[in-house]
Amino acid sequence: MGHFCVICGAPLEPRIIEGREVEACPNDTFILWHDPKVSTAVVVELERGIVLGRRAIEPGYGLWCLPGGFVNDDEDPAAAAARECLEEINARVEPTSLIGVYHIAKSAAPSMVVIAYRGRLVDGDRPSAGAEMLEVGVFELDSLPEFAFPSHRTVVAEYIKFPARAGAAALPTGAAGAPRAAAPSARRVPRRQLRTR
Ligand SMILES: [Zn+2]
Repeated sequence: MGHFCVICGAPLEPRIIEGREVEACPNDTFILWHDPKVSTAVVVELERGIVLGRRAIEPGYGLWCLPGGFVNDDEDPAAAAARECLEEINARVEPTSLIGVYHIAKSAAPSMVVIAYRGRLVDGDRPSAGAEMLEVGVFELDSLPEFAFPSHRTVVAEYIKFPARAGAAALPTGAAGAPRAAAPSARRVPRRQLRTR
């Protein structure tokens, strides 16, 4: 499928730049670079587990995901991560450290670079479902639900290898203001327990 110059509207022509074939304008400097989109994901740490949201929108309706989302052009990624947390789980989150940076290859859409952070809730804030979520829940690391995105599963698997728990450790244990967010459905009853009682 042919593309057109965003500056002058002319049909773009193939050109080889640094060994890579791109589409470029014959009249001016416009080159159609295929850059990845930059997104964020945050593992929000509580003493009892991590915060996930169950999606109220496609893709992945009804499945669980980490809070996070796309970075705007004028945003520092950590600020974008905090903004997305506020939108998705209605709570102020401070990114505390980097988990990793991941390239997510896509064929039918621009690929993504996901920047994954550990984060902690600002004292006194309690997560609840934002407009794009059906509910939020707190999950222990050994009882995680099905994720909407394979990349989030990758991030959490990486997190589990090195769970710093820096944010959670800084919160006073059992304090009255400690965040509680667990939705009833987020608590999985072990199957064995269901059979015996
Ligand atoms: Zn042009």
